[in-house]
Amino acid sequence: MNVDLHCHSTASDGLLKPGELVARAAAKGVEVLALTDHDDVSGLAEARAKAESEGVRFVDGVEISVTWEKTTVHIVGLQIDPEDPVLRSGLESIREGRARRAEKMGEALAAAGVPDSLAGARIYAGNPTLISRAHFARHLVKTGRARDVKSVFQRYLVKGKPGYVPHQWASLGDAVSWIRASGGIAVVAHPGRYKFPKPELHAFLAEFRDRGGAGIEVVTGSHSPEQYLEFARVARELGLSASRGSDYHGKGESKADLGSLPQLPGDLNPVWRDW
Ligand code: AMP
Ligand code: MN
Ligand code: MN
Ligand code: MN
Repeated sequence: MNVDLHCHSTASDGLLKPGELVARAAAKGVEVLALTDHDDVSGLAEARAKAESEGVRFVDGVEISVTWEKTTVHIVGLQIDPEDPVLRSGLESIREGRARRAEKMGEALAAAGVPDSLAGARIYAGNPTLISRAHFARHLVKTGRARDVKSVFQRYLVKGKPGYVPHQWASLGDAVSWIRASGGIAVVAHPGRYKFPKPELHAFLAEFRDRGGAGIEVVTGSHSPEQYLEFARVARELGLSASRGSDYHGKGESKADLGSLPQLPGDLNPVWRDW
């Protein structure tokens, strides 16, 4: 089965509208799709409606920004209830934090000689309540500060660079509990991206599991083939279920297209087993 449980629409920092994204997924052969916008569920209704007409099985999802021991990590919620008031108010508080961070990023970039970047970023934000570094990046590329989004991040938007503003996201416990309160299951997004040394990775995943977390992404657009194997081992060791998701954001901004990644190793317990 072609299952893709991680992607983004214009409700966060993806390039396609929710309906367009689902149409592309269907064309690429995806049979089960979750839309997982950052800290926002406003794209789910449109995506679900399109999935019904395209014959794609649709899963309500979200990708929550979390700070764990000073590291930013992302927790995907699957089979959530987008109407749940606890989840909604939690996500709203994160979006308010994003707005404050975006103001500071605009000021920091201005101090570094890059004026008006917040206004520029807003032009690329399909959802005015959700400003991401990706929107700043698109503006900075458009205005010639670097040749592509990847190099703009390296030059301006990562730790130690002029547009980087440290930020405190939700706690791990809150994110997992909001997901569970809404009936969803919590999955660690792209664990290979955090570069945790092994003891920290194990401490993080043990805490995640103790708080009710269920799975980790094993096959994701953010992992190399070696990391598929590495995180398959981690899933086995820690008794976590496994997920597969492209993390597709749009043409030119993603390593993997919708539904294009290899299947999970056959012995793992897929997060969708009981759906
Ligand atoms: P934010 O959640 O606002 O900090 O933005 C994070 C988003 O920026 C990620 O979800 C990606 O879409 C994008 N991003 C982060 N790092 C990079 C990078 N090195 N190159 C391209 N896009 C990136
Ligand atoms: Mn993103
Ligand atoms: Mn992520
Ligand atoms: Mn993502």
